[in-house]
Parts: sequence; structure tokens; C-alpha cells
Amino acid sequence: MICPRCKTENGSRTICSKCGFYIYHPDVNNRVKMTKAERAREDAKIMGKKVWKVLKVVWIIIVIVVMSFWILAGLMYLSGGIGLG
Ligand SMILES: [Zn+2]
Repeated sequence: MICPRCKTENGSRTICSKCGFYIYHPDVNNRVKMTKAERAREDAKIMGKKVWKVLKVVWIIIVIVVMSFWILAGLMYLSGGIGLG
């Protein structure tokens, strides 16, 4: 589909890749009918994004845990060093 605002060809996209204009309208004749397989693929894409979001949070938690472990280890090493004099 061609964006009515900036005339960019967007293929089967419903939102313009250049200006973000929402091309898709349910009452327009040139709408793209989604088959079951296409809809399933879209769902999978959305699910993938959700999983990625959760993974990002898990990754941040792991980084914080590892960081605090290293800080603790460093502090213990420092205090041990002081203890040894
Ligand atoms: Zn556009």
C-alpha cells in the first residue's frame, strides 16, 4: 500500500514505515485480508516481543545479581587484605 501522506510504498504494511501514518482502514476496499496463517504469524510476532521483554527483565536481574556478587567479593577481598595487614 502507498502511504497517502508521504507516498511511500509500504508493501503489505498497515502503518507507514516512514511517517507512521495508519494506512489500514476496515471500511476501505484496498484492505489486506489476513489469512489464518498470517494472523498466527502476527500473534507469534507479538508473543515473541512479549517473551523478549521478559527475557530483558530476567537479563537485568542476572546482571544485578552478578554485579552485587562481584562487589561483595571485592569488599570481602579488601577486608581480608586489611585483616592480613
Ligand atoms: Zn507515510
